[in-house]
Amino acid sequence: MVIGHFAIGFASKKFAPQTSLGVLMAAPMLLDLLWPVFLLMGWERVRIVPGITAFAPLDLEFMPYSHSLLMSVVWALLFAGVYWLLTRYRTGAVVIAIGVLSHWILDFITHRPDMPLYPGGNLRLGLGLWHSILGTLAVEVPLFVAGVWLYITTTRPKGVAGVLALWGLIALAMLIYVSGLLGPPPPNEKTLPWYALTAWLVPLWAWWIDRQHEINV
Ligand SMILES: [Zn+2]
Repeated sequence: MVIGHFAIGFASKKFAPQTSLGVLMAAPMLLDLLWPVFLLMGWERVRIVPGITAFAPLDLEFMPYSHSLLMSVVWALLFAGVYWLLTRYRTGAVVIAIGVLSHWILDFITHRPDMPLYPGGNLRLGLGLWHSILGTLAVEVPLFVAGVWLYITTTRPKGVAGVLALWGLIALAMLIYVSGLLGPPPPNEKTLPWYALTAWLVPLWAWWIDRQHEINV
């Protein structure tokens, strides 16, 4: 899933208003932020196989460290724990942990059976929503709209910069989504992690959006 993870980040602001949107966006994206790093380290493997699902041309052969259920729990506890130590904001820490875990659930719904339960395990799960483009859009687009709606009803922009920052990211998300759907598959497995690393820009951008917004009272 792609924009579904962004949706959880936007929605999280309603439940943890004191936490920066940058952190709240990084949480549901965390597994996909780690994944390109682990690919570059040679710890995980992916193959580009056009047509393997209607939606994404990826055979996610081996990703137990970024994407297994057990490691998702570990990453959730780590991220939330560090955040709590730094801020003592318990609500924020809980929302962060739920955000990280939501990634596994949303990927489980959309992926082929490639989601491991724990490193070293053979069983891999996935409901395969990606086999249907319509089905994927029918789940992910309303989720994204709902997430953005929760964000814009929880906050208000401080000025024009706030409006531009928010709608700029929404437009970028749509562009990534549509180009992933209509554009050519990534050229090869060597360059794919570098493309995927650009995901790190999204939490940074979200952090900037947060600075340009205040909470509705
Ligand atoms: Zn993922």
